[in-house]
Parts: sequence; C-alpha cells; structure tokens
Amino acid sequence: MRDLARYSASADTSRGRRHHELPPETRSEYQRDRDRIVHCGAFRRLEYKTQVFVNHEGDMFRTRLTHSLEVAQIGRTVARTLRLDEDLTEAVCLAHDLGHTPFGHAGQSALDLCMRAHGGFEHNLQSLRIVDSLEERYAAFPGLNLTFEAREGVLKHCSVDRAAKLGPVGQRFLCGEQPSLEAQLANLCDEVAYNHHDIDDGLRAGLLRLEELMEVEAFAEPLRTVRSLWPGLDERRTAYEVIRRMIDRAIRDLVAVTTARIEAHAVEDIAAVRACPVPLVGFSDTLHAELGVLKRFLHARMYRHYRVHRMAVKAQRVITDLFTAYSQDERLLPPQFLGRWQAQSTARTRARVVADYVAGMTDRYALTEHRRLYDPGALG
Ligand code: MG
Repeated sequence: MRDLARYSASADTSRGRRHHELPPETRSEYQRDRDRIVHCGAFRRLEYKTQVFVNHEGDMFRTRLTHSLEVAQIGRTVARTLRLDEDLTEAVCLAHDLGHTPFGHAGQSALDLCMRAHGGFEHNLQSLRIVDSLEERYAAFPGLNLTFEAREGVLKHCSVDRAAKLGPVGQRFLCGEQPSLEAQLANLCDEVAYNHHDIDDGLRAGLLRLEELMEVEAFAEPLRTVRSLWPGLDERRTAYEVIRRMIDRAIRDLVAVTTARIEAHAVEDIAAVRACPVPLVGFSDTLHAELGVLKRFLHARMYRHYRVHRMAVKAQRVITDLFTAYSQDERLLPPQFLGRWQAQSTARTRARVVADYVAGMTDRYALTEHRRLYDPGALG
C-alpha cells in the first residue's frame, strides 16, 4: 500500500460502519465504499440527470455522471499528491451528487418548496438518505452501509437543526469540527470541476462567447497566452486550452495552500484535522477571489440566461405537478413507494416518501411521467 500521510483518513482509525461487517479481504474499506457507490442504482441514474442543461437538450453536455467522474478524477490526482487516501476521496467524489433531483438546481428548489411544510428538501441530506437507507441491495442492512468517513464526506453542508437529528455524522456541524481532509478535498474539487466545465458547456451551447469571457481576468489571462502561442487555433480548441490551464492553476494553488496550512497547524493525525477551527484544504485569497468573479459571471450570463431560465421554469412546473399528483392520490405511486407510503403514519413522513420518489427520477423519466399523469392523450 502507498505511504499515506499521518493525517490522512485510514481504515485503522475509521469510525467504522453502522452495521458490523467483516473487513474485506481483497480491498481496503474505502475501496469497498467506492465499489458500492458505483454499483448502486442512484449512481447509474446520474447519467440521465443534468446540472444546467436538461438531459435531452443534446448529447454533448455534461450530465451528473460525467461531472461526478470528472470530480473524482481531479480528486484522486490531488489526493495522491497530498498523500491522502485516494479511494476515500474517490468514493466521496462519486457519491457527492447522488441526492440531486432531476433538472438540477431548478428541480431542487421546486421540491424544497413542495416540502416546505414537511421539513424541506436538501440534496446533501438526500445523498446521505440514499447511501444510508434508500438503496435496497444488501440482505443484512439497509442502504450501502458505508464507513463513517464516506458518510461525513457525502454530508457536505447541513443546518444545525437538521444535524441535531443525524447522530454522529451530524455532530461536526454542532461543535464546529472539520471533516477528514479527503472530504474537504472532494468538496473543493467539485467546485473546480463545475465552474470550469460550465464555461465549456456554456460556450458549446452558444450561451457564452469567448470575447465576453474576457471580462473575467482568470479567463482573459490564459486566453492571451494561448492566442499568442497558437494564433490561428480555432475557438473550440482555444477554449479547451484556456479551461485546462485554469483548472491546472486552481489545483496547483490548492495543493500549495493546503500543504502550507497543514504545516502551519502542525497537524499530526486525523483527530487534529477534525479539531482544527478552519478547513485545511483551501485556495489562496487570490484564487478564491478569482473563483468568486467567475461564479458571479456565470450566474449573470449563463444561469440567468433566458434559455436556461425557460428550462428551469418548465422543470419547476414538472416537479411541482408530480409532487402534487402523488400527494393528492398515493395510488399513483408505484408499488415499492406505495408500500413505503402505507408504512408511514404522519403527513410529514408520507410527504418524504413522495419526495424520495420524485427526487430519484431522471430528467427523462420525470418528463415522461408528467405526460402520463397530465396529458390525456398519453398512453399509460
Ligand atoms: Mg457536484
């Protein structure tokens, strides 16, 4: 096994699984976590869920599956460089978006609104619900029975109210502790991946133009470099060259800053990582500010673009209609979810079953189901 840093997560210091299991013979505990995630149904459904664009808009755009693979690939590279546990990092990266609804953020806010009287809907919490209980694949336990470290990584954010109900995995939000470095890393790799890949998808969709990105200095600077090195290069390849330089710069910054912080805090083990008042994985102030500018640009020019907004409004309508239909008549639920619904005794927990069903849908399935329920001409 590779030589891991003293402060990395390791199976020896793992807080273990909720249900006891014998240790794996041919894999590490975190490899087992990773493998269980790859084999679960929610992971496969990521292929037909989107972030910004709806799945059927084109085959060229990223889906949550390709996004998760990209996050995992960046995460593993950095984990190896920092001598952190690569398998745990990969597991957290691959699982980080499992709880997302169809239609990206538009879908999530619509479902949150539907669930307002019943505790709301939050995708991080939903990811944890999936790995802890909703996946029914193993005879001996519900969910995937992941290690504590993988579960804490999946639960990226959480309100204090909600954290109080989650037991040990919610504890850190109550007492201001940090998760493992692997979890911190997965979180920032997600940010690096989606910001830069959204530029790429935005350019491809024609929502953004290279020239308007010149407003963003973090883009303009490598663009000038690429154009001076390859003056005749076409726009697509120019964009790729710029984006890969931006990702490379962000990752080099992250590695340097994190290494320096680990040294400055004289962190000796994972307990010290957890007790640290601030996260140790991070960017420099300069890079942090640049990412802020980039995010604001993407919000103004891309996420609020009328074509994206039009799709978001449609998506919200679909989610709201689906939730309403099942809430008004539970017999519209498929047998597995109807059974779960019938096992509940309160309006709150019944609404949660409906939310679980709707959240698990892919973009395509949600649209088809919406037609089946609301279009009199559609076949059942
Ligand atoms: Mg993500």
